[in-house]
Amino acid sequence: MLSVSNIFFSYNSDVTLNDLTFLVKKGQHVSVLGESGSGKSTLLKLIYGLYDVDKGEVFWNETAILGPKYNLVPGMSFMKYLAQDFDLMPFITVSENIGKYLSNFYPEKKQERIKELLRLVEMTEFSNTKVKYLSGGQMQRVAIAKVLALEPEILLLDEPFSHIDNSRKNSLRRSVFNYAKKNKITCIVATHDMDDALAFSDKIIILKNGELIEENSPEMVYSNPGSYYVASLFGEVNEIKINSVSHFIYPHELKVDSNFDFEVCVKRSYFKGSHFLIEAEINERAVFFDHKFSIKTDSVVGLKIKKDL
Ligand code: ADP
Ligand code: MG
Repeated sequence: MLSVSNIFFSYNSDVTLNDLTFLVKKGQHVSVLGESGSGKSTLLKLIYGLYDVDKGEVFWNETAILGPKYNLVPGMSFMKYLAQDFDLMPFITVSENIGKYLSNFYPEKKQERIKELLRLVEMTEFSNTKVKYLSGGQMQRVAIAKVLALEPEILLLDEPFSHIDNSRKNSLRRSVFNYAKKNKITCIVATHDMDDALAFSDKIIILKNGELIEENSPEMVYSNPGSYYVASLFGEVNEIKINSVSHFIYPHELKVDSNFDFEVCVKRSYFKGSHFLIEAEINERAVFFDHKFSIKTDSVVGLKIKKDL
């Protein structure tokens, strides 16, 4: 189990991480979600031991994770960290990069393992290409294979699919996360992509200005967001006050209905493929709802809230 207990950290006079505490069980997949600058990357670096915490402690089972003050070579052997700017060697091949941590003692076994990892990240055809000739997305795939090579007990991934095209992102995400689950690798993933977080996590942790403001299952975080900040991490959201209580209503939870709760004036329709997202206004505030068709600008339509509040 990974235990993060009351950690504080500052780069300078501002507090970057403020009293974070949480547990991650072996084999669990935890997503760290939050807007840019909320402290996700810093948290991963502290868990890895790249910096010294100002206060608090990080333990993996009985082992304290120590920063550079107490541990000359940062990082623990049972952990691998995929940085936002992946750390690859440009002048050697894809295979050589992936095999960098693998022992040369059993060369055949090593080659087999490299092949398996190349398949996992869909990079077999680039096996002998020098990394400097790859695109950003291809480099990111090699970096993922490299951190998986030795099957760490804990994998820290910082925005692991941010450079990868949408067409490949879904299959890659499934392969990597299912591989980690199958091999009981504990995963902590910093992301601002809701698709990374909702489908694969056992738990989501939400950071805002360096504070942990929510920790729950993906279902609970999505359906009962505690604030507008949390709800808006999952896309457009409407804050609707009823009897002075705020409710966070997603666009798919509103429908045009003659038996409406309130009326809005349509401003714009955005095509989303399977439907349109309609931007409308009520009392000079924006309201977003989903609709099968586009709606003419300046039409007045009645909206009904589909869920029970
Ligand atoms: P996120 O990954 O959620 O975008 P970061 O952990 O990168 O957030 O950053 C958290 C805060 O710390 C931000 O305000 C950022 O500007 C600041 N920060 C990050 N790295 C450094 C650094 N090396 N030196 C000083 N401030 C930093
Ligand atoms: Mg970051």
